[in-house]
Amino acid sequence: MGHILTFHRVIPPLAGPRIHNHQGLEVSPEHLEEVIQYFLKRNYRFLSLDQLKTVLDRGDADQKFVVFTFDDGYQDVWQYAYPVFQQYKVPFAIYISTNFPDQTAILWWYMLEDFVLRKDRISFCLSGKTYDISCVNREEKEAAFARLRKIILNEPDQLRLPGILKTIFGDLYAALMQDSQSLSLSWEQIRSLSQDPLVTIGAHTINHYPLSQLDESMLKQEVEGSRLRIEQEIQGPVRHFAFPFGKKGEASLREFAFVQQAGFLTATTTRIGNIFPAHKDFPTALPRISINEVSHSPVLALQTAGFISSVVNRGKRMITD
Ligand SMILES: [Zn+2]
Repeated sequence: MGHILTFHRVIPPLAGPRIHNHQGLEVSPEHLEEVIQYFLKRNYRFLSLDQLKTVLDRGDADQKFVVFTFDDGYQDVWQYAYPVFQQYKVPFAIYISTNFPDQTAILWWYMLEDFVLRKDRISFCLSGKTYDISCVNREEKEAAFARLRKIILNEPDQLRLPGILKTIFGDLYAALMQDSQSLSLSWEQIRSLSQDPLVTIGAHTINHYPLSQLDESMLKQEVEGSRLRIEQEIQGPVRHFAFPFGKKGEASLREFAFVQQAGFLTATTTRIGNIFPAHKDFPTALPRISINEVSHSPVLALQTAGFISSVVNRGKRMITD
């Protein structure tokens, strides 16, 4: 039995206040090292995604193994995680959403965090409704973040997103947009990473939409378009994919089959679970274990034992639909 671990960002604890909501996507470099040591001590094999596919095909997936993966393509993976993996000679994968290095992504959740931290009072008018939100202390900032997040998430039409954000952020929109773009890996960094045998560059769509909601041609564009874009930049094949969001309702049978037909060797979801020999038949529906700030040794033990996944999945060992 093995595990595929999901990370997003690796950064030292930041000075100054944060909105709590985000810290679940971050671990410190020391924490990353602790996770590597956890598996080293327990004699796990550290696999790349190509090696994982081989292990599945050979029916060796009953052995202990672990695969490290990072979603989205944050700049701090280069800065803080890469040196740790080099030190331990541990392979890892980064799944890139191509609009991120192309600088066309709207990382509104980080923009929103900055925004509520900067403001004492937030006033705007949206869809005929006037909002006037006090945002002075920590409690109010957390509440404002939650409320505005809900308004943004409730908009079903992604194309209207920039307009809504401009309305909410007002004068700060351009500055916030620029700050959030600096969070992405550059193509130059991605090219350099792709040259290292320790690193696998995978695809994670163009726009990070929940794929289940897209029609067939949009789905094709997001899956194959992102692969093509990365392949142009790194001048090499992209064989692995991660579903954005990837919970049930965001990626399911149609998407798993599509990604397999498109020729990807593996694809990972955000369903929680371990990898068993039977996943040989479901290489594009691989569950993962999300590593966050609480995943220190005792929690990691629970996560890898399948205890948490069995609770979440109501006792089912494997989720493949
Ligand atoms: Zn993602």
